Amino acid sequence: MTASDTPTRVVIVGGGFAGVACARGVSKRHDVAVTLIDSNDYHQFQPLLYQVATSMLAARDIAYPLRRIAADVDGFEAKRGEVVAVDPTARSVTTRTGETYQGDYLVLAAGSQPSFFGTPGAEHSFPLYSLDDAERLRTRVIQAFEEADRDPSLIDRGAIDFVIVGGGPTGVEVAGALAEMIATTMAYEFPAFASRATVHLVNHGKELLSMFADKGHAYAARILQKDGVDLRLGVGVTEIGPGHVTLSDGSTILTRCVIWGGGLKAAPIAEAAGLPLGKGGRIDVRADLTVDGFPGVLAVGDVANIPHGKDKLHPQLGSVALQSGHAAAETIGARIDGRTPKSFSYLDKGTMAMIGRGAAVAQVPPGIELHGKVAFAAWLGVHAALMTGGSNRVDAFKSWAEDFFGKERAPQPLDRSGTPRMQWEDDAVVEATAGGEA
Ligand SMILES: Cc1cc2nc3c(=O)[nH]c(=O)nc-3n(C[C@H](O)[C@H](O)[C@H](O)COP(=O)(O)OP(=O)(O)OC[C@H]3O[C@@H](n4cnc5c(N)ncnc54)[C@H](O)[C@@H]3O)c2cc1C
Repeated sequence: MTASDTPTRVVIVGGGFAGVACARGVSKRHDVAVTLIDSNDYHQFQPLLYQVATSMLAARDIAYPLRRIAADVDGFEAKRGEVVAVDPTARSVTTRTGETYQGDYLVLAAGSQPSFFGTPGAEHSFPLYSLDDAERLRTRVIQAFEEADRDPSLIDRGAIDFVIVGGGPTGVEVAGALAEMIATTMAYEFPAFASRATVHLVNHGKELLSMFADKGHAYAARILQKDGVDLRLGVGVTEIGPGHVTLSDGSTILTRCVIWGGGLKAAPIAEAAGLPLGKGGRIDVRADLTVDGFPGVLAVGDVANIPHGKDKLHPQLGSVALQSGHAAAETIGARIDGRTPKSFSYLDKGTMAMIGRGAAVAQVPPGIELHGKVAFAAWLGVHAALMTGGSNRVDAFKSWAEDFFGKERAPQPLDRSGTPRMQWEDDAVVEATAGGEA
C-alpha cells in the first residue's frame, strides 16, 4: 500500500469471540483498518460467567480490556459504544451517543440475549449472559443468606431456595457450582442454617445435557443429585411469581431467586438491522458468512444462523463463534483480492460441560464421550487455552487449584456499587439496593 492508498475500512460490532477473531484476522493485512465497537470496554469469556456468579473466579479473571487487545495490533482500534441503529446499505452503524461508523465491510458479531419464550415474570429472573449478570447473581445469592440470617422465618418461605431453569450446559454448570458453593463457602460462613438451602433444577426435557449421549445425561444427573440438587425433569416453568415459581405439573417451589438458563435469541441489533432473520431471530447468512443481497455485510457467531450443510445450522458455541470470526476475516480478504470466498467449514474439537469439582462430561471427535476426572482435566486445559491474556490464565488456574484443594471459595464481598437490583419480595417486586439492606 502506498501513502496515498486508502485502507479498506472494516467496522465490527461486538468484541466477543467472533468479533475479536475477525478483527485480529483481518488486521493482519497492512491494507485494512478495523474499528471494533462494543458496549463494554472488555472482552468477556462467557463460558466461565457461572464461576464468577458462584465465587469461584473473580470478574477480572474472565474479562480483558478490548483496547489492550487492539493496542497490540496495527490498524485495529477499539471503541466503546452501544450500537442502536444499523444501515446495511451504507454499511454504517450509529451508537446511542450519536457516533456513526461507516466501513467498506460491516461485520455484525453482537452475540445473544436471553429468550424467555413469553414466560410470565421471567424478566425478574437472573440471566447469565454478561459480567454484570454474573456479579448481580453472586450478590443476590449472598444477599439471600444475609436475609435468612436476619430473619430465619424466611427460610421456610424460600429465602435460600434457588431455582435454575434449563438443563443445558448453562443450567447444569450453574447448578453444580452453586450447590458446591453452598456446601463449602456458605456452610462455613452461615453454619447455623446453610444446610437448609436447596438448589432446584427444572428442565422441560427428561434428560440433562441433551447434546451428550445417554451415559452423559445419567452421569450429570448422578453428580448433581450427589451434591443435593433437586432435579425436576420433564416439567417446565409456566410462571415466575412473587416468592415462587409455578411448574407445568401444577406444583410450586418457593423461591426468591430464579436463574434463567432456559434459552437464547439474537442480540437486539439483529432485528434493528432489518436483515433477513431466521431461527432465534438470528441473521441468516450465506456459506461465506455474508448476508444475501448485501455482499459487504457479514454476520458471525451467536447473532448469525450459519448454515451447516443443506438444512442444518451451526449451534451457538464459543468454538463456532471463534472459527466463524476467523472465516469472516478470510472472506473479506478474498473479496479485497478479487478471489471467490470459501464456504465456512467448522472443525469440531469437542463439546464439554463441568458439573462440579473433578466432574465433567466431554465429547470429543469421533463421538468419544469422557466422564469424570479425565473430562475435567480436558475442560481445564481447553478453557485455559481459550482465555485472553496471560494474567487471566494464571489467576484462573490459581483459583481453580484453590477451589479444588481448599475447603471454601475465595471471599467475595457483596457488591455495594449501589446499582439497583430487581428482587422478589413476598408479594411485590421491589427495587432493592445491592448490599443486603433490603
Ligand atoms: C453461561 C454460558 C456458558 C457457556 N458455555 C459454553 C461452553 O462451555 N462452551 C462453548 O463453546 N460455548 C459456551 N457458551 C456459548 C458461548 O459463550 C457463545 O457461543 C459465544 O460467546 C458467542 O460469541 P459471540 O462473539 O458471537 O458473542 P458474545 O461473546 O456474546 O459477544 C458479543 C459482544 O457484542 C457486544 N454487543 C452486543 N450488542 C451490542 C451493541 N448493540 N452494541 C455494541 N456491542 C454490543 C457484547 O457486549 C459482547 O461483548 C456459553 C454461553 C453462556 C452464556
